[in-house]
Amino acid sequence: MLNVPSQAFPAPGSQQRAASGGRSKVPLKQGRSLMDWIRLTKSGKDLTGLKGRLIEVTEEELSKHNKKDDCWVCIRGLVYNVSPYMEYHPGGEDELMRAAGSDGTDLFDQVHRWVNYESMLKECLVGRMAVKPVAIVKGNMFHQTSEMMNSFSIDHSSCSFQSSENHEKKLLNGILLKSKVPDLPAKEISPSYDWFQTDSLVTIVIYTKQKDMDSESVIVDCQDGCFRAEIIIKDYSYLLHSELSHEIQEDISVRVAEKTGKVEIVLKKKDNISWKYLGHPLENHNSFTEHREKGLYYRKCTLISKVDVTHDTKLYCLMLPPGTHLQVPIGQHVYLKQIVSGTELVKPYTPVLESLHSDSQETQHPHNKYVYVMIKIYHTGLFSPHFDRLQIGDCVSLSSPEGNFKKSQLQDLEELFLLAAGTGFTPMVKILNFALTNITSLRKVKLMFFNKTEGDILWRNQLEQLADKERRFEVEFILSEPTCEWTGKRGRISLPLLSEFIKRSLEDSRVLICICGPAPFTEQGIRLLKDLNFSQEEVHSFTA
Ligand code: FAD
Ligand code: NAP
Repeated sequence: MLNVPSQAFPAPGSQQRAASGGRSKVPLKQGRSLMDWIRLTKSGKDLTGLKGRLIEVTEEELSKHNKKDDCWVCIRGLVYNVSPYMEYHPGGEDELMRAAGSDGTDLFDQVHRWVNYESMLKECLVGRMAVKPVAIVKGNMFHQTSEMMNSFSIDHSSCSFQSSENHEKKLLNGILLKSKVPDLPAKEISPSYDWFQTDSLVTIVIYTKQKDMDSESVIVDCQDGCFRAEIIIKDYSYLLHSELSHEIQEDISVRVAEKTGKVEIVLKKKDNISWKYLGHPLENHNSFTEHREKGLYYRKCTLISKVDVTHDTKLYCLMLPPGTHLQVPIGQHVYLKQIVSGTELVKPYTPVLESLHSDSQETQHPHNKYVYVMIKIYHTGLFSPHFDRLQIGDCVSLSSPEGNFKKSQLQDLEELFLLAAGTGFTPMVKILNFALTNITSLRKVKLMFFNKTEGDILWRNQLEQLADKERRFEVEFILSEPTCEWTGKRGRISLPLLSEFIKRSLEDSRVLICICGPAPFTEQGIRLLKDLNFSQEEVHSFTA
C-alpha cells in the first residue's frame, strides 16, 4: 500500500487538482483522487457492466454509448467504459464526454498522450473495435501483404526501400491509421535505408535527405534481439523496427553526417558470420509519420547515483542500457515510469546536466549514455517519494524525449532572459549552458530565479560562480518567504520586478524570454510579459 493519506488527496498543490490558474483541470471531489481510483480498480467491482467478458464493438454500437452514465470511448482500437472514471478524471467530466461514443485517440493524444491509459483503465476495458473489411486502393497504396512484410528479409543489395514506394494502408482493430506517409512536402523528404556488413559489423544507413541532422535526432534501442531506430525530422519521425536475424553485442554506435543527413548505426556481430538478411519487420517498421502519432517508447535505465542538491531536491544519474543511443535535446523532457501498488505511474521530468561547469563531463559521462534528472521530493506526493526510494542499481523506465522547444529559437539571439520558479529551473540548465557556449551573437543572459527560501535555491553556488566567471551572465534570486537577514529581492513574480529585470539593451535586440515554474506562475508571467509588450515569438513557456 502507498503511505498516502487518502483524505488529503489530491493535495492543494497537486497536479491532480485544478491549478488555480489552470486551464484544463477541474477540482476533484473528496475521495476521487488517483489513489482512490486505484483502490476502486482493485476492489473487484465490475466496472464495465459486462461481468468480465470482452466483446467486439462495432462503430454503430460504440456510438450508442454516448451518455455520462453509459459512456464508451475508443482509444487506439480498444474500447473502454469510462463512466465509472468520470469523477476521477483530472480534466473533468465534460472533457471526457467530448469523446463519448467515438474514437477519442486524437483528443487523448492532444491532451496527454503520455498518460498510461492501458494501466489506468484496464478494469474498464469493454473490448476491441470489430475489424472492418479492407478496401482495395489502387495507385501507389498497398496492402500490407506478406510480400511487403518479407521485403525486409531479402538480400541487402535490393533492400534500400524508398518509403514513398511503401505506402501502406493499414487497419488496426477497425480504426484506420492516419496515412503512414505524411502529406507533401514532407513526403518528398521521406527517408530511406540500406545496410551492409563486414566480418564483424553490420551498419544500417539511413538517408534522411535532411541538412543539419544531429545525433539528438537519432534514438536507437537494441535490446533482446530487437532493433528500433527512430529518426526525428521536424515534426515527423522515421522508424526502423525489426527483430534482427542474428545476435549482436550489447553496445552500438551512431554516426551522423550533419551535412548530408546520413545516419549510420553500427552493430557489432556476436558471431563473425555473414548475415543473409537483416531481420523481420516489427510494428510500424519503415514508417514515416507525424511524431505525435507514435506512442511513447520506454527503455529500462539503471540508477547509478543520487546526490543532494537541497534539503528536498536531488540529482539522480540514470544510465541508459548499452544498446541505447539517446540524447535529450535542450528544453525537452522525458517521462519516468514506475509501478506503484501494481499501477504504472508516469511523471514528466526535464533532464539537466551533471553540473553547470560542463567542460569536463563529455568524456566522463557521455550525453548519449547517461541522463541526469533533478527531482524535488514531495513527501506526500505520489511519484517522487517512490522514485527516491530506488536504490543504486535499481531500474526505472524512461521515455524518449518530448517537448516543443527548438534549439533554433536561440539562433542569432542577442539577449536571453530566463524566469524560473522552483524546479522550473530544470529546463533552464541546458538552455543556459548551450546559449553561453554556442550562441556567439549573445550579449546577455539573465536568470531570475524565484524560490520560497534561500535553502530552496537549486545550484546557488554554481550559478554564482558562473556569474563571476562569465561576464554575459547575471543571476537574481527572489524569495517569497525570506528570513529577515535576506538582503536580496523579495516577493512573487510581478510587473515591477519584471520591468526592472527585463530590459532590451537596444530597441531592436533579438530577445527570447523562457519561463517555467508552477502553472499559475507561468501563466501570470506570460500575461505580464504581454503587458510589457513582448511578442508571442519572444516568449517561450514550458508547460506539460
Ligand atoms: P504530486 O502527487 O503531484 O504532489 C505534488 C504537490 O502536492 C506537492 O506540493 C505535494 O507536497 C502536494 N501533496 C501531495 N500530497 C499531499 C497531501 N496528502 N497533503 C498535502 N500536500 C500534498 N519536477 C521536478 O522535480 N524536476 C523536473 O525536472 C520536472 N520537470 C517537469 C517537466 C514537465 C514538462 C512537467 C509538466 C513537470 C515537471 N516536473 C518536474 C514536475 C513533476 O512532473 C511532478 O509533477 C512532481 O515531481 C510532483 O509529482 P509527485 O507525484 O511526486 O507529486
Ligand atoms: P515552489 O517551491 O512551490 O515555488 C517556487 C516559487 O514560485 C515560490 O517563490 C512560489 O511562491 C512561487 N509561486 C508558486 N505559485 C505561484 C503563483 N501562483 N504565482 C506566483 N508565484 C508563485 O515550486 P516547486 O514546488 O519547485 O514547483 C515547481 C513547478 O514547476 C512544479 O509545478 C512543476 O510541475 C513545474 N515544472 C514544470 C516544468 C516544465 O517543463 N513544464 C519543468 C520543471 C518544473 P510562494 O511561496 O508564494 O508560493
